[in-house]
Amino acid sequence: MLHNQRSKMADDDAAPFDEVARRQDQAQALLDAAIEAEQFQAVGMQLRECLLALVAAMQRRIDLPGGVTAPKAADFNGWCDVLMNVLTPGEPNQELRHYLKGIAKHAWQIVSWLTHARAANRTAATIAYEACESVIAAFIRILVRDKTDNTDVCPRCGSRNVRPHFDISIEPDGAYFSLCGVCGWDNHPGESNQAADS
Ligand SMILES: [Zn+2]
Repeated sequence: MLHNQRSKMADDDAAPFDEVARRQDQAQALLDAAIEAEQFQAVGMQLRECLLALVAAMQRRIDLPGGVTAPKAADFNGWCDVLMNVLTPGEPNQELRHYLKGIAKHAWQIVSWLTHARAANRTAATIAYEACESVIAAFIRILVRDKTDNTDVCPRCGSRNVRPHFDISIEPDGAYFSLCGVCGWDNHPGESNQAADS
């Protein structure tokens, strides 16, 4: 177990999401093989663990703001509130935030129901599985959006088409720099001769 200061290193990040994927695969395998109601309930139990693994993995990637109390590990809805408040803050994100919290709570609800439902069957379990799949995809997408959304604007032309590029030749061992796809502006530390192009 890693209890050091929250690390953003890649190798620390990958493992928790591996557990999400593993539990998702196990739920799929259980679903494929299920016949009796209790076997479909077992799909629900695996999906529950999968959703808990998802919020646990996300916690490791996020620094909670001061004054925010961490919910208990099994408090899925509590964690979704905390995580989405951090990842989709403020008025511009309001619709996205409500949507993400909503699909997460509904997925948790249907999965929790499935774990003990006498009516658990293939249709219900498949719908629960797909609900979780959708939550996992959306949560991971929102988690990485800082890297994919071009919220930076070019200081020269104002375009959002500013993308990171990696240059191994930047001392000491390579670094990212930003390049505007519209006007060619960049902040590469070693390219003062860039002005000649285009
Ligand atoms: Zn530009």
